[in-house]
Amino acid sequence: MDLKAAVRTIPDYPKPGIMFRDITTLLADARAFRRAVDELLQPMAGMKLDKVAGIEARGFILGGAVAHQLGAGFIPLRKKGKLPHKTRAVEYALEYGTDSMEMHMDAVVEGERVFLVDDLIATGGTALAAVDLLRGAGANVCAAGFVIDLPELGGAQKLRDAGIPVSVLMAFEGH
Ligand code: AMP
Repeated sequence: MDLKAAVRTIPDYPKPGIMFRDITTLLADARAFRRAVDELLQPMAGMKLDKVAGIEARGFILGGAVAHQLGAGFIPLRKKGKLPHKTRAVEYALEYGTDSMEMHMDAVVEGERVFLVDDLIATGGTALAAVDLLRGAGANVCAAGFVIDLPELGGAQKLRDAGIPVSVLMAFEGH
């Protein structure tokens, strides 16, 4: 089965020059969705993980399925203002301006082993912010998994440089 063929590419979305890698087509295909979740899990075999952290919003869909399969808890990393209890926040740079990501303060216990999941890693800004947030809360971020890597943007390498083993299921050239 060709998992890569299940991803749809939308040129010039959300702005000219961006090739948007749309995983909704993969999610809608039962075999492709299962395969993607299985492949995200594979490198985690034998690692004892307490929790999976997913980045809003596509990281929730994949991360929830991964957590269920691992028998681990799930931590939602959300956009500002969405979580109802006490939160910790981290600001991170976007191409223009900044954004902020939050987690509940009590979402991890010191030393818990966490697997970070998102659909795609590009510059790595989002994932590195997630790692900062989780580490700041005492989590041991053991690994990160993404369906898609855009290697030219260097995000996966930045995460590896930060000491996090990274697995990706496929790579696309360009932005
Ligand atoms: P970055 O922080 O640059 O690594 O961007 C990663 C985040 O932006 C992920 O949550 C992705 O879902 C989204 N993203 C960035 N570039 C793309 C793209 N070309 N296609 C789809 N999603 C993207």
